[in-house]
Amino acid sequence: MSTYTYSAGPGMLPKEVMQEIQQHLLTFEYDGISIIETSHRSESFQHVVDSLEARLRRLMHIPENYAVLWLQGGATLQFSMIPMNLRNQNRFAYVDTGVWSKKAMEDAKHFGQVDVIHPLIDEAGGMSFEPSLVQDVDYLHVTLNNTIEGTRFTNLPETTVPIIADASSNILAEHIDVERFGVIYAGAQKNIGPAGLTVIIIRRDLIQSKELPSYLDYASHVDTLFNTPSTLSMYAAERVLKWVEDQGGVEAMERLNREKSEAVYSFLEQSNVFSPLVSGERRSLTNIPFTTGDHGRDLSFQQFAIERGLLELGGHRSVGGLRASLYNAMPREGAERLVDVMRAFEEEND
Ligand code: PMP
Repeated sequence: MSTYTYSAGPGMLPKEVMQEIQQHLLTFEYDGISIIETSHRSESFQHVVDSLEARLRRLMHIPENYAVLWLQGGATLQFSMIPMNLRNQNRFAYVDTGVWSKKAMEDAKHFGQVDVIHPLIDEAGGMSFEPSLVQDVDYLHVTLNNTIEGTRFTNLPETTVPIIADASSNILAEHIDVERFGVIYAGAQKNIGPAGLTVIIIRRDLIQSKELPSYLDYASHVDTLFNTPSTLSMYAAERVLKWVEDQGGVEAMERLNREKSEAVYSFLEQSNVFSPLVSGERRSLTNIPFTTGDHGRDLSFQQFAIERGLLELGGHRSVGGLRASLYNAMPREGAERLVDVMRAFEEEND
């Protein structure tokens, strides 16, 4: 019986990629030493960096007027690096779509005034915002996919200011039109690779040195490895991105993610025991919160699932209930298995 983890992150990685990493762990390329021991300034590691960036550029169609940076500190460090680097008038707009967007705006408040914009929900349950509310600010920040609440933007109107997107839980999982954004950032640990790596895709004209401490200044990182990066995570990410390309790219991933989430949602829609917590078009493709409506029964289901090899189905502590994260590396069978186990629980408990 296969074991699956529905964790919101770190999430599953493709098994064949992990096996490849295991095989190459002791002798990486021609140096005869491990990737862990390889200097980030070596020629062989430079190949990894170049290939990682080239793959991401191909997969996301990133034009040359955007720089790609590989930093540490998680998406969380970007909550402060963004306002620090992009401030001019020291006023920013944030669409408040959940826990992570709130954390982003709390950090931004250290650097200026934050205008809070509430999302618009249309009749079909799509999520958007009112662009006329975005005025006299340095940028507008959106969380494209809300990992905890299981929602996503379905429409982003044009604004007069750069849009900054937290894409931590949907990067490479669905199409993102890079040129709509000033900055896209994401922690790697859901769809890119192991934890310890954060990617920042930034329009070059937005990088203007603000005399910040060196690591915190985007300008330090453009087209160079400024300091020792997370080498093992970068190597693993390069292999994961090769896997994504081999699978057919972001388009194929999005198709698979739609199929997986539809399989789970269509079960939840007709279940007598479980119900989804989000309705309408804003449903995330990657994070599905649901519940039995009873805390004790949610916990019993989690235990029932663990006994059948399905791990990490607990909801985030802020919303409770249950949650299944179905990132790129979760195979179709993982979504089907979850439905089978929910059905078995329902038969025992209905
Ligand atoms: N933003 C979103 C949308 C997230 O899901 C997360 C992590 N789950 C974060 C930010 C924080 O990321 P990190 O742990 O890499 O700082």
